[in-house]
Amino acid sequence: MEAENRENTREENSVTENPVDINSDKEGPAETKSGKIYLVGAGPGDPSLITLRGKAVLEKAEVVVYDYLANKKLLKHVPKDAEFIYAGKKGHVKHTHTQEEINQMLIDHALAGRTVVRLKGGDPFIFGRGGEEIEELVKADIPFEVVPGVTAATAAATYAGIPITHRKYTASVTFLTGHEDPDKPTSNVAWDKIATGAGTLVFYMGIKNLDHIVEKLIDNGRDPKTPVAVVRWASTPRQRTVVGPLEKISSYVKKARIKPPAIVLVGDVVRLRKKINWYENRSLFGKRILITRTRDQASELVAQLEELGADCREWATIAIKPPESWDELDRELKHLKQYKWVLFTSTNGVKFFFSRLFELGMDSRAFKTSRIGAVGTATADELIKFGIKADLLPKKFTGEALAKKLAAKGVKGDKILIPRAVAGGEALPETLSKAGAQVTIVPVYRNMRPKEGEKSLRMEFEKKNIDIVTFTSSSTVTNFLHMIGIEDPDELKKLLDGVTIASIGPITTKTAEQSGLKVHIQPKAHTIPALVESIEAYVIQEGSEAAE
Ligand code: SAH
Repeated sequence: MEAENRENTREENSVTENPVDINSDKEGPAETKSGKIYLVGAGPGDPSLITLRGKAVLEKAEVVVYDYLANKKLLKHVPKDAEFIYAGKKGHVKHTHTQEEINQMLIDHALAGRTVVRLKGGDPFIFGRGGEEIEELVKADIPFEVVPGVTAATAAATYAGIPITHRKYTASVTFLTGHEDPDKPTSNVAWDKIATGAGTLVFYMGIKNLDHIVEKLIDNGRDPKTPVAVVRWASTPRQRTVVGPLEKISSYVKKARIKPPAIVLVGDVVRLRKKINWYENRSLFGKRILITRTRDQASELVAQLEELGADCREWATIAIKPPESWDELDRELKHLKQYKWVLFTSTNGVKFFFSRLFELGMDSRAFKTSRIGAVGTATADELIKFGIKADLLPKKFTGEALAKKLAAKGVKGDKILIPRAVAGGEALPETLSKAGAQVTIVPVYRNMRPKEGEKSLRMEFEKKNIDIVTFTSSSTVTNFLHMIGIEDPDELKKLLDGVTIASIGPITTKTAEQSGLKVHIQPKAHTIPALVESIEAYVIQEGSEAAE
C-alpha cells in the first residue's frame, strides 16, 4: 500500500513538473513538451497475464497502437476517449502498417505531447521488434519505458503442462526464430551447435518451416525420437497441442491443421506433459458456451465457467430504441375504443407502449373496452406491472399460437391492434387477416441491428460454433430468441440441433420449452454456482459416455 502511495505521489509530481497539454494539436507550437511512449508486453493471450505495470500504463493511455497478437480484451483498460490504432501484423504478409509507418506514428503522437502505449503480444523484446522501435525513439530523443510481458515460449510450455526446464531433464533452454528463409545460403541459427548442445529448444514462428527445422535438427545429430510439442494459441480457450517424436511431428501438425501462431517445443521435458497437463484437462476446456447478457448477472457466471476452462461468448442484447416517430401510435390511441383486441408480443412492446400512453396523459383505463392478448409469460408479467391482466395467453410462446387461438374464437370483422417492433414476425398479422380481422400494426420500438460486419448470432449456430447455451432467467430466453429471430419451433430445433441447453430453474425452463427449446440441464438449487456445477457434471458424463 505504502509503495503504491509513493508511486502515485511521484507520478503526480512528475505531471506538475512536466505538464502535458492534452488539447495541443499535432501541428502545435514547437515548445509543446514531448509525450512518453510505453512499450508494453501484453502477455501471450490470456488478458489476465498482463503485468500490473502494463495495466496501469494502459489506464492512462491517450493513444494505443496494438498488434494482432495482443488480446483485444486488454483495450478495456484504456480510457474510452483514447485513440486506438491497429498496427496489424498477422502472419508476415498482411501488415496493416509497415514497420517504418509504425515507428513514425509513435514518434508523431509522442511529439504531439500524448501518452502513447505500444502494446505488443508476449514480451516486446522477444522476437517482437521492440528493440528496433525503441532505437528509433532514442534517435528522436523521445522518453520511453519498456514493460516486459509473459512470452509465448513460457506460456505455451506452462499451459501445455511442460516445465520448460527440469533438473532431471535439462539444464538449458534456447529461444529461436523458425522464421528464417530455408533457401538462404547462410543461417543465423548455429544448427550444428544447438541440435545437440542445447537442452530444451523453443521455436517461435516455426510452423511454416517445420519440415526444415526438423531436418536441420536430425541432420545435425538430435535424436529423431526426441519428443516435441506444438502449442497453438497458448493460454486461451482456443489452445491446441499436438505431441509427437521429432521425426513425425511435421506430419502430425499438418494432419491436425495447426496454423500459426504456435510454439514448437523440442526436448525431453515434453514427456512431463502426461503428468502435468493441468490446463487442457480442466473439465470444461474448449467448450464453447453462449451467455446472453442481462445486467451484471453474466459476469459471475462467465468467471466461474472460465475457471473450468470454458470458452465463453457473451452476447449483449441488441439495442432497443423508440420508433423514429410516434405519429402512428398516437393516431390509433385516439380511437383505441374501436379495437376489440390489442396484442402484445414482447416485454419491450409493453414498456414502450405504456411509456407513450402516459406521456400523452392517458393511463391503463384506455383499455376499458379492448381485450388483451400476449405472447409469453414475460410479456404477460410486464402487463401486470401496468395493471393489466392478459385475457389470452397461449401455452406456446409464439405469435402463430396466439393467432390460431384467437382465430378459433372467430375474429371476422374485428379490429385488432398490434403494437410491436418496426420489423417483426408476419405469422400473427397474416393468420389474423386471413381469418377476416382488420389488423393494424403500429411500431412502438426498434431493434437496432448489429453493426455492419458483426457476426449474427444465428450464423454462430449455423457454423456449429456453440456447444452450450445458458439461460439464467426467462428474459434471457426471450432476448435470445429475439436475437436469433426465428419463431418457427421446427426451424429453431433444426438450428439448435446438437446444442446443449442449460437453464437455471423451472420458470426459465418453462419459458424455454414453451418457445420450442429442449432443456438438457437444470440444477436442483437455482443459483449460478449450482448451474455451473450441473453443466460440469453433464459435460463429464457426456465425455465418459463418448469414451465407452
Ligand atoms: N513477442 C512475442 C513473440 C512475437 S513473434 C512473445 O514474446 O511471445 C510471433 C510468434 O510468437 C508466433 O508466430 C508464435 O510462434 C508465437 N506466439 C505468440 N503468441 C502465441 C500464443 N498465444 N500461442 C502460441 N504461440 C504464440
